Amino acid sequence: MCRVLTTQTVCSIIVTRPSLFGRSSFKRPISSTVVSNSSELGSPTANDARQLLLRMNSRPGSVLTTLMQDNGTTTATTISSQSLDKYNIDWTKKYRGQSSLVVRPNSTQEVAAILRYCYEHRLPVVPQGGNTGLVGGSVPLDREIVVSLEKMNTIHNLQDNILQADAGCILQDLQDNACQHRCLVPVDLGAKGTCQIGGNISTNAGGVYYFRYGSLHANCLGLEVVDGTGQILNLSYSPRPHLKDNTGYDLKHLFIGAEGTLGIITKVALWCPPLPTSVGAVWVTCSSLQDVLGILALAKTQYLTEILAAFEFMDHKVLRLVRATHATSVKLPVDIDCEGNHRGNDHAKYSILIETHGSNEEHDQDKLSAFLEHIMERNLVVDGVVAQNVGQVEEFWKVRDICNPSAAATGFVYKYDVSLPVDDFDNFIAEIKSKLNSLPLNTQYTADDLQCVNWGHIIDGNLHCNIVSVGKFDRDPLLTEYVEKCILQAVTKRNGSISAEHGLGQYKNKYMNQIKDRTTLQTMRRMKKLFDPAGIMNPGKYLPNEKEN
Ligand code: FAD
Repeated sequence: MCRVLTTQTVCSIIVTRPSLFGRSSFKRPISSTVVSNSSELGSPTANDARQLLLRMNSRPGSVLTTLMQDNGTTTATTISSQSLDKYNIDWTKKYRGQSSLVVRPNSTQEVAAILRYCYEHRLPVVPQGGNTGLVGGSVPLDREIVVSLEKMNTIHNLQDNILQADAGCILQDLQDNACQHRCLVPVDLGAKGTCQIGGNISTNAGGVYYFRYGSLHANCLGLEVVDGTGQILNLSYSPRPHLKDNTGYDLKHLFIGAEGTLGIITKVALWCPPLPTSVGAVWVTCSSLQDVLGILALAKTQYLTEILAAFEFMDHKVLRLVRATHATSVKLPVDIDCEGNHRGNDHAKYSILIETHGSNEEHDQDKLSAFLEHIMERNLVVDGVVAQNVGQVEEFWKVRDICNPSAAATGFVYKYDVSLPVDDFDNFIAEIKSKLNSLPLNTQYTADDLQCVNWGHIIDGNLHCNIVSVGKFDRDPLLTEYVEKCILQAVTKRNGSISAEHGLGQYKNKYMNQIKDRTTLQTMRRMKKLFDPAGIMNPGKYLPNEKEN
């Protein structure tokens, strides 16, 4: 792999990473809170566990359960309820289910047999991928059966830039495999070491390359799914997915972003564009969000244009949390002191990480140099660092990827993932901060106990606004209610979206009545009934409670 190295700061550099995807994964934190019941559906019994085990050929480890304590005759793995925490508790620590039965199928046929049985016996089911979702969609509300896709992790084929794989493949494994074939998986996010491609498709995950390579709706060529009655549907998956196919309703799109409410995705065919042969990265700091936007506009429309691959912004308050929680594992490109200020320069309040992808090093290097010169001449940057080598590009991304875990390690995170016009970011953040200064008296917090830290895929108009109760890891229901109301108002008056990419799950489905009209919601319900007539698929999530409509 080739690279061009030049001077240390604000000059130009193009590096090519042997793997674009060596970023670190994270450890899943464990904690607890409680939720409610699913209605009109039963809870699984020891007999159901036995029946499901039979449908998976009594394979050891395919059923994990606490339901068969006194039965030593089966090959189901009888374990303690704590051992099921991994499946019952979500990444954010906000949501805890009470499932006593986890099934781990090995094949599409097994998934079909499980869902057929659950349909016939009216047993609720939660599909689970890597369990990194941030809206509580992947864990049970109560005692639903968890269907974990973790055993279905075979990569079947990568030919002519089309990757075919089981839904349980870890995203990073797919990226590494694609890289060996000189291809790029067009989705990338901080949870890549744990999340699965089926989970990515089911949440229509965005990530850092959304602007450049498009959404999963654009890149997913085919799916194999099992619906809520146990029927296997081949939605342009095989024998060979086509780039173009205009035959009939394109049902796969209904499953992209459906968060496991219509069925279970078992196989995926994905368009993987050629791997860029020249990759550059630069980290710059700015004194205002206005300057960040100025740089974004210049990068997008004038200077980087076709080579622009990612443009991420972080405020220095979150970088301070990164420094406080991960000082030994990541190295900040700029020196942030413990107040969140850039050492030696109090004006720098924001950092931007820009990545470029291209195929001609010299050309890309010239573009990046001209861009950097221009933004410096216009005083839009305080300073910057240009990646000198492959390792430094990775170091930059490690910092960005660790923002989420750093906030989670600092306290409870009231997490918001909104879409807004980019020129509204500044006043939106100011509005939320000002609301935190007039908290209702009955919450346990004052504004001093809370930190509003922000980062996000600003190039897509996607802001991750996070309010962290420093040192306190329990959710305050009054604060939640207050902040959510403020966020909803602030987003809707700017014509934004309350979920840019994380989805709805059990967290945001209650807002659907406010953001979608009645006819649209009714149509969504009719569509769900078609694929899931008994309502067993991920009940209580995604769509709002019908009675509240
Ligand atoms: P899970 O969390 O297991 O499940 C998510 C939803 O999909 C659930 O409703 C579940 O029921 C359903 N589901 C899972 N697998 C299947 C299947 N095979 N069939 C049907 N339904 C299924 N998200 C982004 O969009 N962009 C980001 O940049 C981003 N960054 C993140 C960074 C960190 C550190 C973390 C922790 C999360 C981040 N996320 C991001 C959120 C999360 O990683 C994504 O939503 C991811 O796509 C979830 O994949 P998963 O395999 O973990 O799914």
